[in-house]
Amino acid sequence: MVNAEKEKEYQAAYRLKNATYLKEYFRAHYQKNKARKLQETREYKNAHRDYYKNYLRQYFLDHKAEHLERSRKWHQAHPEQKRARTANRRAKVTSEVITKQDIAYCHRKQKGKCYWCSKAYPRRKYHVDHVWPLAKGGANIRANIVIACIPCNLRKGTKTPAEFAGRLI
Ligand SMILES: [Zn+2]
Repeated sequence: MVNAEKEKEYQAAYRLKNATYLKEYFRAHYQKNKARKLQETREYKNAHRDYYKNYLRQYFLDHKAEHLERSRKWHQAHPEQKRARTANRRAKVTSEVITKQDIAYCHRKQKGKCYWCSKAYPRRKYHVDHVWPLAKGGANIRANIVIACIPCNLRKGTKTPAEFAGRLI
């Protein structure tokens, strides 16, 4: 009993006296371990790369119908997200990201009418158009997007607003 208490005291004193050293020691140990773990994971993945590639491919093929159906349902339930995603993908997004809120904002602002021809577009059939085309350096930001009916968007393509001779901004 007495010994156990002494031992405890000794340990506490040791920890206190060597606090800095211990902290460094554990940190170094952690870092070393971390690097090793990462390296191990990398090596493992490299060694099994083909296996994983084939496995994933096969998995996709086996569940293709299921996957497509799920994807279709999701897009149906989340039309804005899909449009946002497409707009972002087309912009090869860096830091500016169009959100579904941005698209909802455009719907409200335009009152459900195409920006270019002012006709009402069907509820789920519209394009998010970059007013100043991405291909010509337009930004992928809310201020540069409008909702366009599909025919207008396709006709506009990568024309600038002036070239398109639509409603000028
Ligand atoms: Zn239109």
